[in-house]
Amino acid sequence: RAKAAGRGTFRFCEPAMDAAIAERNVLELDMREAVRLGEFELHYQPIIDLATDTASGFEALMRWHHPVRGIVSPADFIPLAEETGLVVPLGTWALQEACREAAAWPGDLRVAVNVSAVQFAEPGLEHCVISALAASGLPPNRLELEITESVLIGDVESVTACLHRLRAFGVRIALDDFGTGYSSLSYLRRFPFDKIKIDRSFIREIADADTAAIVRAIVGLGERLGASITAEGIEDEAQLTRVRREGCTEAQGYLLSEPLPAADAYKFAFAKKNVAAA
Ligand code: C2E
Ligand code: MG
Ligand code: MG
Ligand code: MG
Repeated sequence: RAKAAGRGTFRFCEPAMDAAIAERNVLELDMREAVRLGEFELHYQPIIDLATDTASGFEALMRWHHPVRGIVSPADFIPLAEETGLVVPLGTWALQEACREAAAWPGDLRVAVNVSAVQFAEPGLEHCVISALAASGLPPNRLELEITESVLIGDVESVTACLHRLRAFGVRIALDDFGTGYSSLSYLRRFPFDKIKIDRSFIREIADADTAAIVRAIVGLGERLGASITAEGIEDEAQLTRVRREGCTEAQGYLLSEPLPAADAYKFAFAKKNVAAA
C-alpha cells in the first residue's frame, strides 16, 4: 500500500517534469527557426534627458512574434537563448539591426543594446560590434552597450580588457539593473562605466525615504565617477518628480514612453517633443 502510494506520488511528478522539459525543447526548436524566419523584432524605448526633457536616445528591446504563442517576452526567451548559445547569433543580429536603425535618427541620438554575459564569453564580440558600426555608418559614440554584473562574474580580466578596448574605440558602456546584484560597488572600481542604470525595483519604492537616500547616494557615486545616472521604470509623475529631485540625469519608463516599434521610434526621434515637462 505504502509502496503503491510512493510510486503514485512519483508518477504524479514525473509527467509534470517531462512536460516542462518538452515545453523547453519545443521553445528551443521554435527559436532556432525563428531567427531564420525573421520572427524577431527590436522595439525602442526612449531615454529622456532630464536637463532638456527630450530624448537622448533609445534602448533596443527584443520582441519575438511567435506564430502560435503571440509575443513572447525576452524575460522568457533570453535565459533559454543564453543556455543554448542562441543568444550569440541573436545578439549579433540585434547589434546590426539597432545600429542600422539608429543611423537614420538625428545625429545626437544614441542607441543602447543589451549584451549578454554569454556574448562576452565568446571571442567574436568586438568584431561583431565594430562590423555593425562599419556596416551602418553609425559613429561609435552613438552606440551604448548595456551589461549587467553577470558579465563581470566570469573571466574578469578578459572581460574588462574587452570593455576597455571597446571604450577606447568610442563605444559607451552602461551598467544595467544596478543594485540588484551581489557586489555592485566592486564592479564600479574595476571599470569606468559611462552610465549607471538604477534598477526599477528602487524606483518603485522611491516614495520610501530610505530608498530615496540610496538613490541619492548612487547619484553621488555617479558624479564622482563621471557616470550619468538613468532611473529605470518610471511609471508615475510622483516617481519622476522624485528622481529629478534626487539628481538622476536621465529617466526611462512607461510614463514617458513604452518601447516603440522602429517606425514609431523614428517619428519620436524627429518630433523632439518635450515628453517630461511635468
Ligand atoms: P532591461 O535591459 O533592464 O530592460 C528594461 C525592461 O523594463 C524592458 O523589459 C522594458 O520593456 C521594461 N520597462 C520599461 N519601462 C518600464 C516601466 O515603466 N515599468 C515596468 N514594469 N517595466 C518597464 P523587456 O523588454 O521585457 O526586457 C526584459 C529584459 O530582457 C531586459 O531588461 C534585458 O535584460 C533582456 N533583453 C531584452 N532585449 C534584449 C536583447 O536584445 N539582448 C539581451 N541579451 N537581452 C535583452
Ligand atoms: Mg537594458
Ligand atoms: Mg535594466
Ligand atoms: Mg533587466
